[in-house]
Amino acid sequence: MAKPLPAPPDTFAPSSDSVYSDQFGFYTLDSKVPGLSQVILDKLKMKDYKDYRAALEGKGKVGFHSHKEMFQNMEDTFKFCACCSKLPSSLPDPRALKRCIKCLNVYYCTKECQRKDWSLHKKFCSMLHKVSIDRLVEWLVHTGDLPFSTEVWSRPAKDIRCWDDWLSMQGDLTSRLEPVLSGKNMTDLWTNACRPRPEEAELRDSLWRVCSEFFSRALSVGLGIKMSHLDPYSRPLTIHLVGAGHNETLGARTTDMDELSRMFPGHQGLEVVMVGPEVVQGPIMRPPLRAFGPRGRVYISAFKGLYHQFWEEVIERGEAAKPDLVVGFHPGFHASPGLGEGWLPTLLLLRDFNIPSIFTMYNNAEMENSIQILIELEMDVKDTGPNPFSSQKPEQVQSRPNKPPSHCNAFYIYFQGALETQQEEE
Ligand SMILES: [Zn+2]
Ligand SMILES: [Zn+2]
Repeated sequence: MAKPLPAPPDTFAPSSDSVYSDQFGFYTLDSKVPGLSQVILDKLKMKDYKDYRAALEGKGKVGFHSHKEMFQNMEDTFKFCACCSKLPSSLPDPRALKRCIKCLNVYYCTKECQRKDWSLHKKFCSMLHKVSIDRLVEWLVHTGDLPFSTEVWSRPAKDIRCWDDWLSMQGDLTSRLEPVLSGKNMTDLWTNACRPRPEEAELRDSLWRVCSEFFSRALSVGLGIKMSHLDPYSRPLTIHLVGAGHNETLGARTTDMDELSRMFPGHQGLEVVMVGPEVVQGPIMRPPLRAFGPRGRVYISAFKGLYHQFWEEVIERGEAAKPDLVVGFHPGFHASPGLGEGWLPTLLLLRDFNIPSIFTMYNNAEMENSIQILIELEMDVKDTGPNPFSSQKPEQVQSRPNKPPSHCNAFYIYFQGALETQQEEE
């Protein structure tokens, strides 16, 4: 089954997202703001990309003396002129870099640069204002203040089609958000952050956006379960999360997918195995189950390595159950320069074992490019479109803030098996 490597689509261009899941993505930051990757490493106190990775995996010696220093250094990684891309180090006076007073997110080296940029920046300023608040509020997920607790679904999963449906089952969130808003960590955050505490209403909205990103993962898995017509009430299900990286596994808790149990109360047992070379050490790093998860509960485990390795080393030896569904959160294979090494064997495996799969994407362009690659691999793409459970938290492109934001899990591609090829009749 020697398939040729698909060529990247014509529109292929390495993008510099704020999310750099590999070395390639990390250094493309420099194509927009020369030197930015070095600033990030310096500010996060690392020597090179290997250190950065190690730190994400909890192995590095990244240590900040205080929360103030941590937030300050994080903010410093956004300090460059949004108009001419100059870093503070290339200015005669690094303090000349001034922040837009509206969004408190982008910087300019001179009044002239700011004036020149305004016609573009004004379209993104209020969005960037939200982004810069969310970036800090996200810390409350690491402290455990977020996400807020959720209710068991009072309606069948098939009737819950969007966030509004979901929110309508949650009742009044005030009593759950109040302790977070008035909590010690929230106070600490704004004491140490490089900006004043926002208005309560703004903070409340930010709490929701940050939580929506967290819940979006479980709900996207749920979307895949619905699309593939799997019935968690009739038998236990095994779900593999391929290409899992630090987004899903850094600080992950064994309860992270519990929303699935509220979605399908009393199910027969759900197992989620996170697999990827960037999986981070933590409590979820435990062996997968050979058979079924405990009834009514979600069991999360993790494997650090490429998916086809996991398949050969663990599944084929009978040490883990075969998947009923495979999910990938923005796998990024459309921008992977060597598709062959990482994703190609995985994609071919999913195709040849006819496994229902759902992958999510940050934006429409990423979806289009990914569809093209799947089609070139003769895979049967069954459904695509905007994900009704997309994260509501906007994400800026770190090196080019004045661009439309992307959202985690904003689009999905659902595919299974190979395309039927029409046999010519003799
Ligand atoms: Zn400038
Ligand atoms: Zn602004």
